[in-house]
Amino acid sequence: MPIPTVRQLLHDALDAVLPQRCVVCGRFGAALHLDCRASLPRAQPPRCERCWSPGDRLLCDSCVTSAPAYAGLRAGYCFTGPVRRAILEAKFRGMTTLLPPLAAEAALSVPSAWAVDLVVPIPLHPNRQRQRGYNQAAIAAREVARVLGVPYGEPLRRVRATPAQAGLDALQRQRNIRGAFAAISGPGAPVVASFAGSVVLLVDDVSTTGATFAEVARALLDAGVARVYALSMARED
Ligand SMILES: [Zn+2]
Ligand SMILES: [Zn+2]
Repeated sequence: MPIPTVRQLLHDALDAVLPQRCVVCGRFGAALHLDCRASLPRAQPPRCERCWSPGDRLLCDSCVTSAPAYAGLRAGYCFTGPVRRAILEAKFRGMTTLLPPLAAEAALSVPSAWAVDLVVPIPLHPNRQRQRGYNQAAIAAREVARVLGVPYGEPLRRVRATPAQAGLDALQRQRNIRGAFAAISGPGAPVVASFAGSVVLLVDDVSTTGATFAEVARALLDAGVARVYALSMARED
């Protein structure tokens, strides 16, 4: 377990004494009511089979011109309104209890034909993980692994800290993230032994252009993984 930050401890302490307020309706009683969860905006088809961008055709122009390194991407929700609020609360204000229900729902959009062997979170840079005390993608990925009944692993590390992707266009995102990840290999990397030839499902909180997934997928394919798929709790269309 990571060492909790002071902010995390304070949050947990307040959580214990204050009644929870629902991130969707604002009423007290739960961080996210069951009914309120059912009302959240889903990332419904029609969408590109590969990158899940909205559109009527089987593959979007971008995937026809240059296919991303991942073989398919799915998302549970649209990153708007209350979903956006919930994920930002989880990411920046320690409301991590919001993550498992959203991740469990997103996991249901994974096609069984993908035949995933291993669920892997997009890693945070160690410095950022130390500041935050947790990796929101890892919390989501553990829940996805549980729902799919597939092992969870962390065979990746972030070798370079990168500025946030927000506010960058597609090409800038690609450049910003290039070379930021590497598969852990060598002694002390137990997962890698069963790594070659496997099918990996990458999990992140939010996807936009899919540039991060594509970059990590490349690193995993270089390390001998057979195929990489991607799942985000929400997609920013
Ligand atoms: Zn509610
Ligand atoms: Zn596409």
